Amino acid sequence: MNQINNLLTKWYFPLSLKYISLIAYIVLIVVGLTAYSTDAAFINQLRNTNLGNLIVWSYWWPAIVIGAIFFGRIWCMVCPVEIITTFFAKIGLKRKRTAWLLSGWAITAFYIIILFVGIQGFAIHRNPFFMAIYLLAIVGVSILVGSIYEKNTFCRYVCPVGYLLGLYSRLAFFGYRAKNKNVCDTCKDKSCIHKKYQYNLNYKSCGVDLYPATITDNSDCILCAGCMKTCSKYQSEPNANRPNPQFTQIGFANDLFRLKPLKMAEMVFVLVVSGFVISEIWSEWTVTNRLLAYFPDMIIKPLALNNKLLIGFIKGSVIFAIFPLIIWLFPFLISRLTGATLKMKDYFLNYGIAFVPIIAAAHLDKAILKSTSRIPYFKHLFDDVSGVSTAHKIIDGQIVIKQMPFGLNFVVSILLTLVIVAGVWLSIMVVKRLNQKQNFEKTGVPNYLIPVVYGSIFLIMILAWRWF
Ligand code: SF4
Ligand code: SF4
Repeated sequence: MNQINNLLTKWYFPLSLKYISLIAYIVLIVVGLTAYSTDAAFINQLRNTNLGNLIVWSYWWPAIVIGAIFFGRIWCMVCPVEIITTFFAKIGLKRKRTAWLLSGWAITAFYIIILFVGIQGFAIHRNPFFMAIYLLAIVGVSILVGSIYEKNTFCRYVCPVGYLLGLYSRLAFFGYRAKNKNVCDTCKDKSCIHKKYQYNLNYKSCGVDLYPATITDNSDCILCAGCMKTCSKYQSEPNANRPNPQFTQIGFANDLFRLKPLKMAEMVFVLVVSGFVISEIWSEWTVTNRLLAYFPDMIIKPLALNNKLLIGFIKGSVIFAIFPLIIWLFPFLISRLTGATLKMKDYFLNYGIAFVPIIAAAHLDKAILKSTSRIPYFKHLFDDVSGVSTAHKIIDGQIVIKQMPFGLNFVVSILLTLVIVAGVWLSIMVVKRLNQKQNFEKTGVPNYLIPVVYGSIFLIMILAWRWF
């Protein structure tokens, strides 16, 4: 750990990694833009043969989810968008953030737009061209937000990727904290939050409104190490214990068990993600994939709709809002019927965090599935980075993609099952502690339906699909 902290005080770390990832980001966009198609059957192959799309959704995205669950927001440490938005904030208007931005609703709204317009409307998770447009849109919004608002507004108050990773990093073994709070209490220069260093690009005070001495969870720190660098460099009275902020071991799921309630905007975000991961996992198996389409089709078919965006909106509303809302409400209604007095708002804000470990486990399962199932495509990737010709050859039968070896398939099945079981177990622990905290040990028993019902949605599907 000392070596990592030492490295973080150096001028070139993590800055150099951000420049490398910026180059990679540009390359992935360019490669994605080379493969335009709207033919659904063709895109079904192209999504795995286009280098940009394959790397972004089958390796980059799974890697940052896995990274967040075990180590915290380490993607944010190397994210190129952070330097772009910070640069534009330096030369921009530096307006005060509005209350709406600070409330967290901007993140939730941006995420809902990505799901409804991006995923449902343009299939950005499958279509390489629209994946590239999506990456460009993220940069565009970060430039716009950076140009208007003060400090780093995008990374904390707009970026849904960062917020999702912050949520998962409540499970991480590691965190970014001040070593010794007394050092901060007696510090005169407070260089970690000093205005003078606010718009530096590397040795900078905190742009996301954190004060290292009061950080108690991983949710918001983007691990830029700016405060560590300023704390080390701009000491008005030299102190051997500085830099005081450090990356440190905090213990698995430490932040989750702090049981910090969600804010209203965060709760809506978590609710929508809880529906999204159901669709992510259920779409992997033909049986559950058909089930997923069944209820939206009950509305779409009788109306004979053919507007793509409207169909996407209806599907999105059922899968990302109505399904999860029913699942979230079920334990609450049972507990009310059995005499509990907990108000609905308090239930949603407090017990909402019990969904987080299962959501993270489902996302981890998706990451395992994506990264392993795409291995057979690697052989053909670098001969044809756009993937257009390879996709044609697969459709024509000139290239046959091999099945995953039995041994790997078996290991994947074991991992998928264990990960969900671990998520359910953590969720049970969270409910137990929440019931203790709220003195609901007796009346709070129905709240265990959160892990039971929500966990079963994944566990039963995985058992039926992978084992029976
Ligand atoms: S983190 Fe460093 S600069 Fe900030 S208050 Fe603590 S000792 Fe001072
Ligand atoms: S607390 Fe430090 S490392 Fe975290 S975001 Fe702020 S400046 Fe960066």
